[in-house]
Amino acid sequence: MSARLLKGKEVSDALVTQLSQEMAKLNFQPKLVFIRVGDDPASVAYVRGKNRLAEQIGICSLVNALPQETKQAELMELIAELNADDSVDGILVQLPLPEHLDSEPILEAIDPRKDVDGFHPMNVGRLWTGQEGLVPCTPAGLIRIMDHYQLPIEGRHVVIIGRSNLVGKPAAALFLRRHATVSLAHSRTRNLAALVKQADIIVAAVGRQALITPEMVKPAAVVLDVGISRVDGKLVGDVHPDVAEVAAHLTPMPGGTGRVTVAMLMQNTLQAAIVRRASG
Ligand code: NAD
Repeated sequence: MSARLLKGKEVSDALVTQLSQEMAKLNFQPKLVFIRVGDDPASVAYVRGKNRLAEQIGICSLVNALPQETKQAELMELIAELNADDSVDGILVQLPLPEHLDSEPILEAIDPRKDVDGFHPMNVGRLWTGQEGLVPCTPAGLIRIMDHYQLPIEGRHVVIIGRSNLVGKPAAALFLRRHATVSLAHSRTRNLAALVKQADIIVAAVGRQALITPEMVKPAAVVLDVGISRVDGKLVGDVHPDVAEVAAHLTPMPGGTGRVTVAMLMQNTLQAAIVRRASG
């Protein structure tokens, strides 16, 4: 048996079409501002990709590329300016920041209504208490992939490997919201293989090549590969390629979850713009 591939491009294209239709109904142009500090090649590539898609669907998108030596206070000042600028709907600080910068107060400084990454504690709290808010793009994309391919979530056992604030924890909240039974595994989880074997849906979000092997996967499982590592210049996920012989559904890497993440950012920007402008 070979798994059906859950293709990020297919999901992203459908979402982009939907968002373009919603954009056409607006009487204003949403504005998204990126802040990138330094020249980390991955960050440069990520911001370029996000900026390109924003422009494609008609969002006004600006990139603030700041020098590596930017000070914490300067960054905070820029965020305060963007918060106060009524024309700005979304603010995204590309992570990771250089080591001398403390990302926590920076993310907390962003107006929660403009927090299109969904990392502000206000949005995190809203997510966990079941209120409307801005939700992190990668986990939201996982739900979007499941829905696009009409894969059921309710009552299923989801094992998420990785407990970061960016991916694992918000993914747990979102699957819980959809009535899944959620296990959240991490580096200190004992007997990961036995836990993963029970999963109907596996979310691998660690960044370790081939962490998930075919023996760990229940036949008919859905496997969502989020992790990214660079091995010999090639991008690989957390899931061993042979898992495709066992799982029923699998996101490819590359070409899976990453692409959907970027499209979800556009959805968040639209949502942020509509909600904030409606509330005056
Ligand atoms: P992180 O480093 O903050 O978290 C990694 C998590 O993995 C931690 O919670 C840790 O406990 C867990 N872990 C480490 N070793 C483990 C092990 N041996 N067994 C079980 N758990 C283990 O990383 P992150 O920001 O959550 O990102 C995770 C991965 O996802 C990275 O590779 C990142 O590049 C990738 N990523 C992909 C997308 C996408 O769109 N596909 C988006 C964001 C991040």
